[in-house]
Amino acid sequence: MRVRWLLTGVSLLAAAGGVLGWWIHGRTPHLGQAAYGQTAAILAHGPRPPGSEGLTAVRSHVKSELAKAGWVTQGQSFERSTPVGSLTFENLRARFPAGAADPWGMHVRVILCAHLDSKHFKDQHFLGADDAASACAAIVEIAKFLAKRKPAQAQNLELVFFDGEESLGPDITAMDGLYGSRHYANQWRTRADKPEFGILLDMIGHEHLSILLSSDTPADLRERVMAAAKAEDAQRHFGMAMGPITDDHVPLNSAGIPTVDIIGDFGRSGWWHTPADNQKIISAKSLDISIRVTLRLLAGLLEK
Ligand SMILES: [Zn+2]
Repeated sequence: MRVRWLLTGVSLLAAAGGVLGWWIHGRTPHLGQAAYGQTAAILAHGPRPPGSEGLTAVRSHVKSELAKAGWVTQGQSFERSTPVGSLTFENLRARFPAGAADPWGMHVRVILCAHLDSKHFKDQHFLGADDAASACAAIVEIAKFLAKRKPAQAQNLELVFFDGEESLGPDITAMDGLYGSRHYANQWRTRADKPEFGILLDMIGHEHLSILLSSDTPADLRERVMAAAKAEDAQRHFGMAMGPITDDHVPLNSAGIPTVDIIGDFGRSGWWHTPADNQKIISAKSLDISIRVTLRLLAGLLEK
């Protein structure tokens, strides 16, 4: 009798565990694993500095992945003189039309963005797996998920894959780097219908995930990110950097779109801007955490 009760108890527990597992994972099913695979698909095209065949191929790949999920895309190209000569850059924008006749005329409330280019090195095969293929991969998987499960949120988003985030010359100057985001932010600067918030993802898939928000993060967004991390039981992976970080959120903030840079700690263990930034340092689990926090942040921003 006791044995039977025990067995019944065990099977009830197992069933409850299964339901709990389904409930937990059912919310964002396998997005970390999918983004891990998507990172590998991006890296398969090789290095992707501005103006390269690799970048053109990756842009086409992202476009077709988004199109399959119902998103429409638009290239935004422009020319700039750079320390390595004149270059044509192209940002990729995407919107979820959900029946709108002109998706580019709709008002969107949030921008979700990352940089698609990888840093150009003459002397090394640099792939930029976490800088920032993993962030672009995460956005592609978030886009697929929202299109299917939360179309009302998707409709309020613009996705942007920036070109030319990385500097091209040997010296650090204010005019070298952030080419795509500076061009993109300028289009919104004087417009009354600009989006209310921006979320920038960068280096969010490292196996030792340690997100450090830039010290210039708008206070409201900083609190929202920390609250989302806490709600996802991921607060140990989130903190504040000691100072400001130069990244694509800077032009957006200066154009009047409060933007948070959810960026991994690139100062540790010497992988950053080296060939060690490859698929081996990427973790599906880290991607899953970053994606869950981003989805929760997004849902909160779009709540009202
Ligand atoms: Zn970089």
